[in-house]
Amino acid sequence: MQAINCERCGKLFMSLSSKSCPECREVEDNWLRKAKEVLYRQPQLDMMGLANEAEIPIDAIEEFVRQGRLMFRKAAVANLTCELCGKPLNIGKRCDACNNRIISMVRQSIGRKEEERVGMHSLRINKARKEEG
Ligand SMILES: [Zn+2]
Ligand SMILES: [Zn+2]
Repeated sequence: MQAINCERCGKLFMSLSSKSCPECREVEDNWLRKAKEVLYRQPQLDMMGLANEAEIPIDAIEEFVRQGRLMFRKAAVANLTCELCGKPLNIGKRCDACNNRIISMVRQSIGRKEEERVGMHSLRINKARKEEG
């Protein structure tokens, strides 16, 4: 436990892990609740629209989205973009395409080992058949 300055209001407080003081965290919780309410009623809103409608700072909304606590149906027009390809996002840090690419890369490296163990036999037969025909 150490005393740090709240990154939101600058007040000195005792922190375990959080970067904002208990009061600011409460404010953030209220913002999140309000943002969800507004977004539920007006799902067509983008990040900027929600900030105006719910009267919440846009950086707080962006933070919620990055933490995966808030999700837009519409791709956000604010500066939330895929960290790999720069495509606009509505949640998280990477777009689906980049996520899938990463997942398939991981699968491939796992799959290759698996192939070596069980799949090579049938693969060889298929290949042989193709070459015959
Ligand atoms: Zn604070
Ligand atoms: Zn991407």
